[in-house]
Amino acid sequence: MTVLPESVTGPHGSTDAALRAVLADAARVVGADRVTHPGEEPDGAPVTPLGPNVSLYRSRTVHGVVRPQSADEVRRLVALFADGSTGARLHAFSTGGNWGLGSREPAADGAVVLDLSGLDQIRDIDVAQGWAVVEPGVTQARLATLLAGTERMLNVTVSSAHTSVVGNALDRGVGLRHQRVDDLMGLEVVLPDGETVRVGWWPEALRVVRLN
Ligand SMILES: Cc1cc2nc3c(=O)[nH]c(=O)nc-3n(C[C@H](O)[C@H](O)[C@H](O)COP(=O)(O)OP(=O)(O)OC[C@H]3O[C@@H](n4cnc5c(N)ncnc54)[C@H](O)[C@@H]3O)c2cc1C
Repeated sequence: MTVLPESVTGPHGSTDAALRAVLADAARVVGADRVTHPGEEPDGAPVTPLGPNVSLYRSRTVHGVVRPQSADEVRRLVALFADGSTGARLHAFSTGGNWGLGSREPAADGAVVLDLSGLDQIRDIDVAQGWAVVEPGVTQARLATLLAGTERMLNVTVSSAHTSVVGNALDRGVGLRHQRVDDLMGLEVVLPDGETVRVGWWPEALRVVRLN
């Protein structure tokens, strides 16, 4: 059973039954141990569940952090928020290494954060043709290491080796050889209603436009 703290409040400060219910449903999707709620200082001040903020910006008010481990869990989580009844925004990050640019913090208060670092599969790779299908939690260190000794090399950034290939490309990152967005051929996207689509170029075996 998941017990949610009383301090889970809606965007207007009152205890929000819809938000509590959705976070409880989210815990059923990913497992209770993969949902983190805000803590509290002895004086009642909220403690962010996002951990240290390297960028030293003000910590945003976050209702919880949910850590899915598969694309299907992401789809089900997004669908839980689709009717807007919680009023909470969803903020996703891949590995959260956005140091200097906000770390893991959402841009505004009142978000539920999706930490996608647990989606760390390299689903497919073709070194000869020069493509890989990677999930958000795949780091540049992991992909670069996999390519070591082959005729290919990754267009790495000078940020941490533990940052995300996908997250950096989505945030208009800059690689040593060219813009990371130039490496991006296709995307699997969960739309706000939970529908999942694939856009852009995909290898033949995965060329499905609509997944659910
Ligand atoms: C010393 C130093 C050097 C750096 N050098 C570089 C560099 O050479 N090039 C460069 O580009 N940056 C650089 N950076 C900035 C930063 O560290 C990198 O951009 C890093 O890759 C971002 O972290 P991340 O990959 O974990 O992205 P994340 O923190 O996971 O994502 C960044 C943002 O993109 C969005 N996002 C990420 N994934 C998703 C998703 N799956 N769905 C929806 N939205 C998503 C979110 O808004 C998120 O906040 C540097 C930073 C430092 C401190």
